[in-house]
Amino acid sequence: MARYILLLCLGISLFFALPSFAETASLGALRIQEGESSTALLINSDKQLTFKLFTLTAPDRVVLDLENTRAPRKLPQTKNNHFITAIRTAEKEKQTLRIVLDTKNKPFDVKATTLLPNSSGQYQLQLRITHAPSSFEEMIELALQDNTPIPRPNPTSSFKNISPSNTPTPTLRPQKSYKPIIIIDAGHGGHDPGSIGKRGTKEKTITLAFARELYKQLKTKKKYRPILTRSKDRYLRLRERVSIARKYKADLFISLHADSHNNPRIKGMSVYTLSDKASDKEAAALARKENKSDIITGIDFKHEDRDITNVLVSIAQRDTMNQSALFAERVVQSVQSEITLLRNPHRFAGFRVLTAADVPSVLVELGYLSNRREEKLLNSEKHKKKLVQVLIRAINTHF
Ligand code: ZN
Repeated sequence: MARYILLLCLGISLFFALPSFAETASLGALRIQEGESSTALLINSDKQLTFKLFTLTAPDRVVLDLENTRAPRKLPQTKNNHFITAIRTAEKEKQTLRIVLDTKNKPFDVKATTLLPNSSGQYQLQLRITHAPSSFEEMIELALQDNTPIPRPNPTSSFKNISPSNTPTPTLRPQKSYKPIIIIDAGHGGHDPGSIGKRGTKEKTITLAFARELYKQLKTKKKYRPILTRSKDRYLRLRERVSIARKYKADLFISLHADSHNNPRIKGMSVYTLSDKASDKEAAALARKENKSDIITGIDFKHEDRDITNVLVSIAQRDTMNQSALFAERVVQSVQSEITLLRNPHRFAGFRVLTAADVPSVLVELGYLSNRREEKLLNSEKHKKKLVQVLIRAINTHF
């Protein structure tokens, strides 16, 4: 809903003022072009149109005011149109022509595009109405409908992702035996190594090793149902990681990373949760770096990112964000003297991998590969076990 309102605001601001000496424009026949999930009203004219577009409610209408324009001779049929129930025109003062579309099936987005004149000198104004997601959920669904393969379990691996088909159905058991589903996400992988340490350690290797250790220890507890987003050195897009968390309706999503810094003295573990505003410059820079993981594939996520940011600021996410922050605090609290924490260890930033609206999510930076001592520690079996125990203590407190 928030997005709908936002676009209305955009619509109101769409006012194209051209020089006022413009002569009166004549319109050709208005046409409607109906697509699968959109409807376009095509308006041909002999001159560039100066227009104002906005929407009104009760009843729902889309209004287009055209300056210095004569009414068209014919209006198109709207029978069976998905969005438009009727089209009317009215002459307003100062030769302004008002075109009113009575609409249904909210929420939708309305956009106006003007095309340059074609070979016969005809201008075209296109009003396009497209279905808008009504919730964050639906928005993510729409974003995911691009043939992105959802990773399947890998039967040859001992750390396989559990799919609902090869797992006992939880509904057959009494409710009290429900095991919280914990998604363990090893950051980076495949062609994306992540940070690289002074001794050449790759972040993707460290994150996988820690993820497997966490998986193993959680599995032994029998209280949880851990799921790995990747169990070997393979590349996963950030949205795929998010979609795994959503697919399993996970109770917790933990993304593991290891950072690097220009200053080799900086060390310590930190936990990040999602926020529309980064808690500091460092956190913002880190989010940019981690989000880059998707840019490597050459896919433009700008659009999706903007939508996600807009929606998560306003709706649905609050509770999940609070839950995430609570878990992050638990991680910090469960760290005892043996593990170094970064100053202000719980930070906030706009990590794309943390955007599953209904799954509390944290991103753990296990330490700095740019610090020689810490790089060595992150490679040590003992440290790995200890750090994973810290995470498990936090998980136990949380559930
Ligand atoms: Zn990373």
